[in-house]
Amino acid sequence: MPEPIEITLLGTGSAIPTPKRSHSSVLFHTGREYMLFDCGEGTQVQLQKAGISPLKITRIFITHWHADHFAGLLPLIETLHLEKRTEPLEIYGPDASRFVDAILELSYWGVGFDIKAKNVKAGEKIFSNEQFEISTVKTKHSVPSVGYCFKEKDHWHIDIKKALKRGLSGQKLSEIKEKGKIRNILLKSVAKMTPGRKILYSGDTLISMDLFKAAKNADILIHDGTGLKNMERKSHASAKDVARLSKKYKVKKLILTHLSKKYKTNNEILKVVKPIYKNTVVAYDLMKVKL
Ligand SMILES: [Zn+2]
Repeated sequence: MPEPIEITLLGTGSAIPTPKRSHSSVLFHTGREYMLFDCGEGTQVQLQKAGISPLKITRIFITHWHADHFAGLLPLIETLHLEKRTEPLEIYGPDASRFVDAILELSYWGVGFDIKAKNVKAGEKIFSNEQFEISTVKTKHSVPSVGYCFKEKDHWHIDIKKALKRGLSGQKLSEIKEKGKIRNILLKSVAKMTPGRKILYSGDTLISMDLFKAAKNADILIHDGTGLKNMERKSHASAKDVARLSKKYKVKKLILTHLSKKYKTNNEILKVVKPIYKNTVVAYDLMKVKL
């Protein structure tokens, strides 16, 4: 059985936070991994509100180095140090080493664990384990930026009835998954390939067709939803265009986040966007989605 995936929208506000909306941060939890995507101001407090110890964070992915997406790193690192973390922490992003070095220089205290900055460019596979991989996707913002694509590996689902008919059970089932065949029995004759789940996070961006192509048939797209109008000067897409393209590219669920403080209720956006694409939700702080 595939591992459950739990996503928590820790902060869903845009450049200026409000009492209801913290700065950007999304937590992905699956298996042993607790991954933060962006780490705006207040992220560690939001983690605590969500009942997740900051010590569990395994790695951090920053979409771009605007303060509303990274200002929570310094206090989070200090907490991890005070709580005596020993495991290394990887921080990915465009120009990651420049900003991570600057953050570490800002304090008197040394850090009691290793912090590895990993510079990334759009269009790369940047992390992989036995369960999933993460790659970067081109986005269009006013500073170097990337979006991130989480893709679970495709997996074989054994049809037990078919397998038993061919004399396969117990240990033999994992053996055929591993080897592709046992004797003259092919894996595909007793199992079905199930495509892995796919989730994308855009960070801040105008419409990026690279992102939508990567998001084709995605289970979830978490996209910049700053406002309903295209904001060319500030490099934010219109939520209406995002909804239209999510429908076109068959995204199963669109989650709009990074909302401008001018919207007092989610409904102000939903009533415009939902008629364009019904599978749209507007995020709120600490919203959880399970897959
Ligand atoms: Zn932002």
